[in-house]
Amino acid sequence: NEDDFDIFALHKKIGDDQLLVSVCANVFLQYNFISSLGVSIPKLIQYFRALQSHYKTSNPYHCGMHAADVLQTTNVYLCCGDVKENFSDVELIAVLFSAMVHDIAHPGISNAFLTAVNHPLAKLFNDTSVLESMHTSLAFILLERADCNFFSSSTTWQKYHADDFRSLVIQVVTGTDMKHHSAMIKSVEDILDDGQIDDDEVAQLFKAIVHAADLSNSMKDLPVYINWMERVNAEFWQQGDEERRRGMTISMMCDRNNTFISKSQCGFIEFVVLPYMQKLAPVLPPVWLSRLEDNLKFMKELTTDQENTIKRRIKRPASKPWADDSTHPFS
Ligand code: AMP
Ligand code: ZN
Repeated sequence: NEDDFDIFALHKKIGDDQLLVSVCANVFLQYNFISSLGVSIPKLIQYFRALQSHYKTSNPYHCGMHAADVLQTTNVYLCCGDVKENFSDVELIAVLFSAMVHDIAHPGISNAFLTAVNHPLAKLFNDTSVLESMHTSLAFILLERADCNFFSSSTTWQKYHADDFRSLVIQVVTGTDMKHHSAMIKSVEDILDDGQIDDDEVAQLFKAIVHAADLSNSMKDLPVYINWMERVNAEFWQQGDEERRRGMTISMMCDRNNTFISKSQCGFIEFVVLPYMQKLAPVLPPVWLSRLEDNLKFMKELTTDQENTIKRRIKRPASKPWADDSTHPFS
């Protein structure tokens, strides 16, 4: 539950193959829902393995490590001030499940790109939250596999539990689409203003928590934040290279020849992350907000030498061109 958890240190120790499985097992097995909902541990572990195998390890950012980080961060939010005491076991397993599956099979390219090229996924999901719809569908398809369905042998798991679980997961994972970000700021304000969480606010709060975990890298220790920031830029630049190759307009932050790390990170923190986290402050570990401000200050004061060193580091993993090489996620 540590709020200064370093996913990269753990990755170095246990490697790609086991990282997501190990973080998922660590988090899920802390909860009472394993016994109260009759969850099969062997099948749960099998689900984690299947999940890990669907995250694309070649993505610099949207890989299993990001899923593990978002799950671990979601768990920190739930444990902070004992927020989790407000929720039922079905709600808790739904929010943790949503966090770990929220970017499954991410191709390393954005919704805007998939829609612009009329990609098969954009056709399948009618240009609407294409990636988030794919992540949600695939998460449930995996859950139908006999060896992965960790609820199937439970004597306490009821149809109404399954319905609530499904509804929450769909709302939370589709809620990670950045197009909802501004609405989310307003909804956090409404949920937290009276100091209590009403039943009809649970899904909204879960959406807000997982979205916050998804945007949390700039609140982490500086070396951890810099590592994530380099990875996200490496992925953006791969997309930009592909857009250039296809003669498309290069998306924001995706042009390796025209991105200023300091400027783009300050913009991202000042206009996206900070206004949101300030609203969420009552459910954040207090140190995270002050770290966010420190990291913003660091980025504001970034010297030309530091900027160039970061750019050199980003270029290395991005040297391989993007390829639509994932097997169809539904096959
Ligand atoms: P997701 O694709 O679900 O991970 O959504 C999170 C969004 O935030 C994505 O568009 C990321 O590219 C973006 N993001 C996260 N961290 C950063 C960062 N440090 N700088 C710029 N964009 C970021
Ligand atoms: Zn994500």
